[in-house]
Amino acid sequence: RKSPLNEYIPTSPTSPEEYLEFVGPDRVERLKQLAAPLEGKGWANVNSTLVGGGVAEMIKGTLPLARGLGIDAHWHVLEGSDEFFSVTKKFHNLLQGMEQEISLDEIFHAYLDTIDQNTRETFITSDLVVVHDPQPAAMVMNGVIYGNVLWRCHIDTTSPDMTIWRFLLPYINHCAGAIFTMPEFVGPGLQIPVYQIMPGIDPLSEKNLLRTRADALGILSPLLNEHNIDPDRPILATVSRYDRHKNQTAVVKAFRKMRSKISMDPAPQMVFLGNTSDDPEAEQMLAQLRELAEGDPDIHFLVNVDDNDAVVGALLNVARGVVHAATREGFGLVVTEALWQRAPVIGSNRGGIRTQVIDGKTGFLVDPDDTEAIAKAMVRLIEDDNVCSGMCEAAHEHVRRNFLLPHVVEKYLELMRYYAR
Ligand code: UDP
Repeated sequence: RKSPLNEYIPTSPTSPEEYLEFVGPDRVERLKQLAAPLEGKGWANVNSTLVGGGVAEMIKGTLPLARGLGIDAHWHVLEGSDEFFSVTKKFHNLLQGMEQEISLDEIFHAYLDTIDQNTRETFITSDLVVVHDPQPAAMVMNGVIYGNVLWRCHIDTTSPDMTIWRFLLPYINHCAGAIFTMPEFVGPGLQIPVYQIMPGIDPLSEKNLLRTRADALGILSPLLNEHNIDPDRPILATVSRYDRHKNQTAVVKAFRKMRSKISMDPAPQMVFLGNTSDDPEAEQMLAQLRELAEGDPDIHFLVNVDDNDAVVGALLNVARGVVHAATREGFGLVVTEALWQRAPVIGSNRGGIRTQVIDGKTGFLVDPDDTEAIAKAMVRLIEDDNVCSGMCEAAHEHVRRNFLLPHVVEKYLELMRYYAR
C-alpha cells in the first residue's frame, strides 16, 4: 500500500495574533476571514529540499501560520541523488537563460527515473497542492497527486532555454494554474491561469528577530574571533549560496576597487556568508572566489556556519550595508531579510530585487556587471552617515508593508478560496 511522500508537519501552529505587532489588526482580521470557510481544508507543498535556499525558507514559515488559521498544511520533500540535483541545477541554469550542456540520458535517467522512484510507493492528497519549481514538476503527471495542483515558479523564466522549457511545459500545463513572483517572469506557452505571489519573510523566525547590536555581536563573536573580523570597523556583507548567478566575484572585484579609490579609516571589511549544502556547483565557485580574493586579509568567507539562522540575522544586523549583485534572481529573499534588519542593500537591477531596493531610498540599484558602480555605491554607504541612517528605517518599513509572511499566506488563502472550496 502506498504512503504519503516524505511528509513534514510543523510541530506547533502559530496564531495569527502573533503577527499583530508587525502587520496590524486589519490584516490579521482579513486572514481570519479568508480562512474561516477553509477550516480543515488541505494545503500541501511539494519541493526538493528541507533546508537551504529561499524556497525551503518560505515553506517553513508559511506552514505554522496556515495551521494557526485552521488549514491542514503539509510539506512533502522528494528525495534525489547527487546526480538528480546536478541535473535539476542544470534545468535551473537553463531556464534562467544560461548556456549549459545537458544530455538526454541526464533528463531521462537522472531526472525522470528519480521522479518515478519517488512516486512508486507514495502519493499526495490535498485540496490544494503547490508544486515548487522544476525539481518535482514531472510528478504532476504520474497520477499520484490527488487535488488541485498549482505550479509555483520561483525563478525567472522570461527567456528560458526552449528545449528544456518545452520538455517541462506539458507538466506545467497539466496543472490548474501557475504562480510566478513577477508577471514578466512568465515563460512562453503557458495555457493555464497565472497568478502572482511575491515572497515574504517571517518576522517571528530566529533569522528575522530584531536584536540589539550588542545581542547580535554576542551571537557573532566566536566567528568574528575565528576569522579576525573587527566589529568596530565597517562590515559589508553578502549572504548567499556560492552560485554563479549570485555573482560574488563582482562583489570581490568591487570591494577591491572601492579600496583602491579611497583610503578609509577605519577600513571596511567584506564578509561573505554562504552555504554549499544543496548546490553541486558550490565548492567550485567558492574555490574560484578564494582565488580571486588572493588571501586579502579584509575579505572573509564564512561557509556552512553553525547556528545558521541566528548568525545570518546577526550579521545582517551589524552590517553597515549588504551587497547582493546576482545576475539572475527570482526574488532574493536575502535582500528582504537584510532590509528588515535595517541594512541598506546594494542590489542588482534584476528580477524581484527591483521591487525591494528603491534606489536612493532603501539602498542602491546597480548593474551587476558594472563593478565600478557597485564600488561607488559601497563608498557612499561607508562614507556618508546620513545616507546610511536615512535608509535604515525606510528599508525596514518597506518590508513591513509589503514582504512579510502574512502577506504570502493571504495570497495562498485567496487561491484556496477559489481552488479548494
Ligand atoms: N541563506 C542562509 N545561509 C547561508 C546562505 C543563505 O540561511 O549561508 C539563506 C538566506 O538567508 C535566504 C536564503 O538562504 O533566506 C536564500 O534565498 P534567496 O531567495 O536569496 O536565494 P536562493 O538561494 O533561493 O536562490
